[in-house]
Amino acid sequence: MKGYFQRAAAALQKYMIGRYGPDELVAALFVFSCILTFLSNFRPLRYLYFIAIAVLAIAVWRMLSKNIAKRSDERYKFLQLMEKPVAEFKLLKNRIRDRKTHKYFKCKNCGASLRIPKGKGKISVTCPKCRVKVTKNS
Ligand SMILES: [Zn+2]
Repeated sequence: MKGYFQRAAAALQKYMIGRYGPDELVAALFVFSCILTFLSNFRPLRYLYFIAIAVLAIAVWRMLSKNIAKRSDERYKFLQLMEKPVAEFKLLKNRIRDRKTHKYFKCKNCGASLRIPKGKGKISVTCPKCRVKVTKNS
């Protein structure tokens, strides 16, 4: 049995030579497909099942594609597109984590998010992005 799995793994490895393989976009497509499959359980949204299958097919096709340059370009565009939402989600996560110990505010000059400790009275901070000094009540 162990020999069988080793042979299967070796065959898969040989098959994947020169192919693109998985990346962040493929993972996102898999997750999206799972969400669509879940939603298709509700009767009015049944048709979503076919879209989920199509999304899954695109994900598998991307992994098996031999046009690595084009798949890399798509990945780069996807990562650029996701950069801002991911950063905003991380900021929200940090704000929730630090809600008792720190106060968040935006720099009036450049809009950068700044964090100061709570309960320290009037604090003067320098924005690390634009070097403007801001005085805030903490
Ligand atoms: Zn600033």
